[in-house]
Amino acid sequence: MPPVTSRLPGVGTTIFTVVSQLALEHRAVNTGQGFPDFEPPARLRELVAHHVGARHNQYAPMAGAPALREAIAAKVARHYGRLAAPESEITVTCGGTEALAVSIQALVGPGDEVVLLEPAYDSYQPIVELSGGLVRRVPLARPGFGVDWQRLADALGPRTRLVIVNTPHNPSGACLSRADLDALAALLRPTGAFVLADEVYEHMVYDGVRHVSLNAHPELAARSIVASSFGKTYHATGWKIGYCVAPPELTAELRKVHQFVTFAIATPLQHAIADFMVEHPEWEDELPAFYQAKRDRFAALLRGTRLTLTPARSTYFQLVDYGAVSDLPDGEFALELVRRHGVAAIPVSPFCAAPPPGERLVRLCFAKEDATLAAAAERLAQL
Ligand code: PMP
Ligand code: GLN
Repeated sequence: MPPVTSRLPGVGTTIFTVVSQLALEHRAVNTGQGFPDFEPPARLRELVAHHVGARHNQYAPMAGAPALREAIAAKVARHYGRLAAPESEITVTCGGTEALAVSIQALVGPGDEVVLLEPAYDSYQPIVELSGGLVRRVPLARPGFGVDWQRLADALGPRTRLVIVNTPHNPSGACLSRADLDALAALLRPTGAFVLADEVYEHMVYDGVRHVSLNAHPELAARSIVASSFGKTYHATGWKIGYCVAPPELTAELRKVHQFVTFAIATPLQHAIADFMVEHPEWEDELPAFYQAKRDRFAALLRGTRLTLTPARSTYFQLVDYGAVSDLPDGEFALELVRRHGVAAIPVSPFCAAPPPGERLVRLCFAKEDATLAAAAERLAQL
């Protein structure tokens, strides 16, 4: 065999896969990788069976089933006031992951710079690198994980092609406000940079706060691709269906990549989601109360431990500071937690190139049945 030269020499297996595998081996409570341990709504599952039986089993149109793109357009209009054209501004993708990957590949070329705010979701940087781009990482300010506008301004330059933002933010649970979006728009106004907004947790925002989508900010929307995922919204991470909303010129470019990466997405699933969105437009409105109750239940249980909770304002993740129980770096602590205490958690440092020295945070996922949350808390109370 000729020598294999890696295109991604610094990349191993993702932390989510590593921790889930260890959780299986150690029969740990899996509050690590972000997925619900409960089912998608019964009606939605029934609709999938219906569409498999109704001969919806061949290739869907490349851009997405028209019924689904129309349902997405109606939803984006209802929540964010943006009128996106299903035929030229909405594309259905294989999860949020493909939405992000094709967007980056469509926009970034050799020598282009891409700004990430860290902690940053792990899939962004490898795709930028495969595209020949250079990553510039800007740390979010601690505590609170807000944007340090001066540092972001300093990171922008003539080669900046793309800024990636994630709101609501994995893993911190912070989210951008309207003032933040105004600040971002002002910073980018004199530049030629585009924005990729990863909004897969758009419907998980708590305490009466509403998610401020880039779709609701016309100036930013005009230079942005907004990515989302039905996996999160419908408790169906295994279906891998997401979408992008972007102006026609950007949509045309990202579809050029999408058509050669996946071409089209599972047809019966697209039809089932489209029907469900029409039948149950209230679903997303009820999601915050559903997850807020889980967050609060988990927080109450964790008060019986020596872990300190950071505010979990959005997403289905709770960061905890374990500084009172261990001095280990977060990666080692997470390994010890799963092996010796039977609880899976995700360290924060894999989201960072330069984790702040001494930061002792791990992420717990509360998209779990009450019994799972109770079992995790009981084990964590032993620390
Ligand atoms: N972005 C973020 C911030 C995520 O946490 C995830 C996955 N959970 C994704 C994108 C990918 O979404 P999907 O599972 O739909 O591919
Ligand atoms: N996004 C999920 C998380 O943050 C993981 C998805 C994956 O494993 N790729 O836990």
